[in-house]
Amino acid sequence: MNVQEVRKMFPILDQQVNGKPLVYLDSAATSQKPKQVIDKIDDYYRRYNSNVHRGVHTLGTYATDGYEGAREKVRAFIKAKSTEEIIFTRGTTTAINLVASSYGRDNLGPEDEIVITPMEHHSNIIPWQQVARTTGATLKYIPLQKDGTIDLKDVEETVTDKTKIVSVMHVSNVLGSINPVKEIAKVAHKNGAVMVVDGAQSVPHMSVDVQDLDCDFYAFSSHKMCGPTGVGVLYGKKEHLEKMEPVEFGGEMIDFVGLYESTWKELPWKFEGGTPIIAGAIGLGEAIDFLNEIGMDNILEHEHKLAQYAISRLAEIDGVEVYGPKERAGVVTFNCDDVHPHDVATVLDAEGVAVRAGHHCAQPLMKWLDVTATARASFYLYNTEEDVDAFVNALIKTKEYFGDVFG
Ligand code: PMP
Repeated sequence: MNVQEVRKMFPILDQQVNGKPLVYLDSAATSQKPKQVIDKIDDYYRRYNSNVHRGVHTLGTYATDGYEGAREKVRAFIKAKSTEEIIFTRGTTTAINLVASSYGRDNLGPEDEIVITPMEHHSNIIPWQQVARTTGATLKYIPLQKDGTIDLKDVEETVTDKTKIVSVMHVSNVLGSINPVKEIAKVAHKNGAVMVVDGAQSVPHMSVDVQDLDCDFYAFSSHKMCGPTGVGVLYGKKEHLEKMEPVEFGGEMIDFVGLYESTWKELPWKFEGGTPIIAGAIGLGEAIDFLNEIGMDNILEHEHKLAQYAISRLAEIDGVEVYGPKERAGVVTFNCDDVHPHDVATVLDAEGVAVRAGHHCAQPLMKWLDVTATARASFYLYNTEEDVDAFVNALIKTKEYFGDVFG
């Protein structure tokens, strides 16, 4: 399938914004949704909307099959051993919070350390700050190389036998760098720690095998991978999940309830208190079918090419600084001399080009880069070289508009 055929599957892309054809370069924030995902959710609400796991009636059975079928699709997509290891959450943030609140609180004490990096998204920083505060554990950071990559020597030096949790993003939402999480997991395990991976920017863009990575927990969001908002996944090794306490209590997650004591359902349901995100999970399952049809390796290669093309075209404009290593996923973060990235994004928007501006939920990384904010163009399977050209041409207009302060 070529990119023009792929684009036809995304109805939202076929529109004008501010009188210009829409060029959507903000997929790292949230991706667009193909028609088949929109239709699948519509079909659920029109034909078999019903609660799951409870009813003996026919619609309830369809809904349960759809919901549990989606869990199996997720399992196969990330190559987990069993659906017991796949927990539906609200997204990456909730998934990491679940690990921090349950595993973190029960396994950490004042002598222990949690190790993360300064490039993490706030979702992979603040839960650990909170756990460190409540347990007395120490939060430590693996230093970054000048280009924003992680050197394994620094991992070896930072992770010690006091470390109980190492949590690192697979792909940076700012630098686009792909972190060596498999090798970091080996260092974590050698020291007796568990490895948590924030996969929000990896699962949508590349083939991920959680068993090969040998991570203990892996978190990601549906809305960045052509699926609906409001649903995400926590993968966890069964040996850990079995020992962990739920963090949300109520309906759906119980086995027996007495007046003073209760027991929990088996995995994965003990972590899914309340009516689950049924339509969301079914939509995510359809998004996985769609991504499999295109092929994750094709998606990664396509985005890689677009990012490299964008970087080479940006080099033509004086005063544009691009952050991050050369080898990267489809994210290009930049600044234009003294023009504030919000102003850059506003002028680009007037040209129909949607990019992100701000701190990208990575304030410690902004500090490390010594900037207050940046602009970011991010690519996905539906973007084209023409999108990159439109973006670069709009940036040239921005330069003309801001005159002296830019270049
Ligand atoms: N981690 C990374 C690397 C992200 O890019 C994001 C989303 N911007 C998140 C975590 C949080 O994802 P969500 O908001 O879907 O929970």
